[in-house]
Amino acid sequence: MRPLILDAIFRSIRTLNGVGPKHAKLFDKLLGGERIIDLLWHKPIDLVDRRHSPKLKDAKPGQIVTTTVTIQSYQLPKRRGLPARVVADDGTATIDLVFFNVYGDWLQKAYPLNAQVVVSGKVEPYNNRLQMVHPDHAGKPEDIASIAKIEPIYPMTAGLGPRQISKTVEEGLKFLPDLPEWMDEHLQKKHGWASWKEAMRDLHHPQSGDDLEPTTKTRERLAYDELLARNLAMQLVRIRHKKKKGRSFPHDSATRTRLLKSLPWDLTGAQRFAIAEIDGDMQADMRMLRLLQGDVGSGKTVVAFVALMNAVAAGAQGALMAPTEILARQHAKSLAPLAAALGVSIVALTGRDKGKTRDMILSKIKSGGAQIVIGTHALFSEDVTFKDLGLVIIDEQHRFGVHQRLELSDKGTAPDVLVMTATPIPRTLTLTIYGDMDVSRLHEKPPGRKPIDTRLMAGDRLGEIVAGLKRKIATGARAYWVCPLVAESELLDLTAAEERFKDLQKHFGDRVALLHGQMKNTEKDKAMKAFVDGDVDVLVSTTVIEVGVDVPQASVMVIEHAERFGLAQLHQLRGRVGRGSDESVCLLLYTPPLSEMGKQRLSTMRDTEDGFLIAEKDLELRGAGEILGTRQSGMPAFHLVDLEAHTDLMEIAHAEAKLLAEKDPSLTGRRGETLKVLLYLFSQDAAVQTLRSG
Ligand code: ADP
Ligand code: MG
Repeated sequence: MRPLILDAIFRSIRTLNGVGPKHAKLFDKLLGGERIIDLLWHKPIDLVDRRHSPKLKDAKPGQIVTTTVTIQSYQLPKRRGLPARVVADDGTATIDLVFFNVYGDWLQKAYPLNAQVVVSGKVEPYNNRLQMVHPDHAGKPEDIASIAKIEPIYPMTAGLGPRQISKTVEEGLKFLPDLPEWMDEHLQKKHGWASWKEAMRDLHHPQSGDDLEPTTKTRERLAYDELLARNLAMQLVRIRHKKKKGRSFPHDSATRTRLLKSLPWDLTGAQRFAIAEIDGDMQADMRMLRLLQGDVGSGKTVVAFVALMNAVAAGAQGALMAPTEILARQHAKSLAPLAAALGVSIVALTGRDKGKTRDMILSKIKSGGAQIVIGTHALFSEDVTFKDLGLVIIDEQHRFGVHQRLELSDKGTAPDVLVMTATPIPRTLTLTIYGDMDVSRLHEKPPGRKPIDTRLMAGDRLGEIVAGLKRKIATGARAYWVCPLVAESELLDLTAAEERFKDLQKHFGDRVALLHGQMKNTEKDKAMKAFVDGDVDVLVSTTVIEVGVDVPQASVMVIEHAERFGLAQLHQLRGRVGRGSDESVCLLLYTPPLSEMGKQRLSTMRDTEDGFLIAEKDLELRGAGEILGTRQSGMPAFHLVDLEAHTDLMEIAHAEAKLLAEKDPSLTGRRGETLKVLLYLFSQDAAVQTLRSG
């Protein structure tokens, strides 16, 4: 259970003064959560210094000034659309306070005639007079101290202004508990780091622009906490994983020979090397915990199949889990002929299997009749029991949490685990994201791939694009047409795709199909099948095709509003073509004008197909924080860690977590108790859970 001491900040921000349901919703959207701690992790990005109170005659144009003035008169607008002016002075000069869209007698109430009012805002010259348009603050003279200070500015969202956010943060800060110190004393001393509570307060009270940098002591302390929590969670999981003795699956050379003979091509050197590493792990009686990292199209699937066959040949079962229905079905389909050639039975289980079908599949899994099981997270369901699960393979792992990885491996007796990812994570980040998994990399692609001709085009040249597409299709090509992500709304994404679909129907008639996440499964299948079978030439879709879909005949990829996608995502999408023997084209459509960064990003896509290079470039251009943002990559985002500025801390946190987990793997010591609080603080509960069940 969560330590009670955290309750105060795990409550909803609705419990704070001044936050109603409407604001709470906006905050939720802004913060990705509506607990007080989510709010307190929202970092200021700028500040306004309101401490300057010069006499008005000395105020510099453009300066933010906080000063006490006396209200002299009003100039109310004669027509709508004109501003109202309140004339005021401070004894040295006159200033016009300017307001647009004033209704009723609000102005006279807020700025009563002859009264003294403290105003704070930007002073500007206008027609030889001074003016302040919509003062940011107005209050009584005795309020000056609370106004004339440094004000943090936070990232905003429509409907939540700067003051609402900073006021709410201040309210939230009141509930910061005194958490027991989990930090190593020497480390804390060495860096001169404050306590967690103090650091959290400082985070929201920057005194200068420098305080906004990720390299301050405050940010470092808080980032270290987060890194320690992540690393510790991974170490605990790892220790639990390795604690159980694994089984030995020596590879069966007769099976292997038959398998390799059934492939229409030779393995690449990289594939052979990765397989040798996996063979080694599986043969040893330690549990395998290996990450297979390989760019899109590098041929991970067959490596997975070889590993599955190691388990099967030894009489155990193997499971392969994919993040989406489409991908699971596709894996099942592409592995079926390989399995058939070896006389191995394979079943697929996804969320859509219901009733009798599902029962039948479940009983096959339970009896061992199914030797290879492919599925989505439906494999986690409690009623799924394996006869003898020896190997778990998880494809595209970043979409699953550590927790889920554990759940599936709990279904076997200490099965080996292989995680596959196509996300080209720069090397420096692998450790932080995956911890100490052993890593195999497929750095080389199968031979015979032709480079993809990537072009940037302004999206308004649609006629030209369609004409070009028609010519390609006439030569037998098939095309994906990906519609953009529009802001936060799935519904809007959909509208865009539906509209484009209708457009393209005018040109391609019934040779175009639509695919999106909201469609019924049967409809999705139908669209996909029509495309695979060549009954349609163009598949219009939202980004559901992003992961793993393999249609070798598809050789054209059109991506609308390419500037809105992350580079990693564009790379994944583009990887859907160039899989067959045809020359492939990828058109990145953008809406002009492109920003300088947009230009650089899209040019990177045009100039290289190397996933690692693209990831590095993305990192350089946008910063790691954004790359790991959930929407772009599906990776867990950090709240306080800056993956560039804090690389040193990463190594320290990793080493310390390892030591801590080895010394007190059940976290029962005095420091262990404090570390539990830390794990809960960063929602690494799953790891705490392993303490109990392990
Ligand atoms: P990934 O999952 O890594 O993106 P896949 O396993 O789907 O890549 O492989 C991409 C394509 O390359 C598939 O069509 C597959 O049949 C083919 N392929 C895999 N290995 C080889 C190889 N050694 N030689 C030729 N083609 C290969
Ligand atoms: Mg794949």
